[in-house]
Amino acid sequence: MAQLLDGKAVAKTLKEEIRQEIAQWREKGVQPKLAVILVGDDPASVVYAKSKQKVSESLGMAFELFTLPADTAETEVLTLIERLNGDTQTHGIMIELPLPKHIAKERIMAAVLPEKDVDGVHPVNRGYILSGQKGLFPATPQSCIEILLRSGVEIAGKHVVIVGRGETVGKPLVFLILKHNATVTICHSKTPDLSYHTRQADILIAAVGRAKLIKKDMVKPGAVVVDAGINEIPGGICGDVDFEAVKDVAGLISPVPGGVGSLTTALIMRNVLQGIALQRGNQK
Ligand code: NAP
Repeated sequence: MAQLLDGKAVAKTLKEEIRQEIAQWREKGVQPKLAVILVGDDPASVVYAKSKQKVSESLGMAFELFTLPADTAETEVLTLIERLNGDTQTHGIMIELPLPKHIAKERIMAAVLPEKDVDGVHPVNRGYILSGQKGLFPATPQSCIEILLRSGVEIAGKHVVIVGRGETVGKPLVFLILKHNATVTICHSKTPDLSYHTRQADILIAAVGRAKLIKKDMVKPGAVVVDAGINEIPGGICGDVDFEAVKDVAGLISPVPGGVGSLTTALIMRNVLQGIALQRGNQK
């Protein structure tokens, strides 16, 4: 029976570190602040925005939520972003997705100053992740790495197999994992014989969005299994891994909920702090 990769415990440690760093900035006269822009009233986005507000405030981070009606013109959203880019009291800007159809997501993402782009979606940050330079990177791929390293799992030298090449999780994760000196295989919906590849993994990471896709016979005995998936099922959520079956063969496994997802909001807060350092030319 596998041991758990306990996302809640890792998140607690991480939040304590962030709380301390925020306190240090405040002692220097800087009040770290995150601004979240919500266009429309998508129920999940409202929940995510409120959750960020709660975590921000519990850590001593200032927070401002800009709620705009669903029919807001794109130019109006861009004007708000422009204002927040120039506001020295705002250190992180996040736009909740999805945006209404009449707003071009790419134009909005590219409008945020890269040093304030705490979601790690600006093309410049996308480039930095490739080149290995300092930048702001998406929270969920970072969560996969943090949950491993902070649970004592060595990544260097391991064969990591990632299932999913999505823009939010799989693709950025490839480059973050490579930086940790793993050998990486990436699989997707067009990969023939997915099981063959997943069975080679020392560390298997699922980022697909298909409930319980990864079955017991797809996992090498003793492997570490990280589940980044979130799928709605009747009565709650589940991951991309068939947890109940796979836990009997894996060495370590992250649950859903209580795994990767537990870390993501904290890592957005950490991005705000990294953003402050970048905005100030890396001085802390
Ligand atoms: P996405 O953009 O939809 O990408 C899904 C990927 O899975 C694609 O590369 C797709 O392949 C691949 N795929 C789909 N069906 C497959 C199959 N049967 N076999 C192998 N690969 C398959 O998803 P995403 O935004 O990256 O998100 C991935 C998962 O992470 C979702 O469950 C999402 O809910 C979750 N997520 C979690 C958090 C968190 O906080 N924990 C945050 C964001 C996302 P193709 O490229 O060939 O289409």
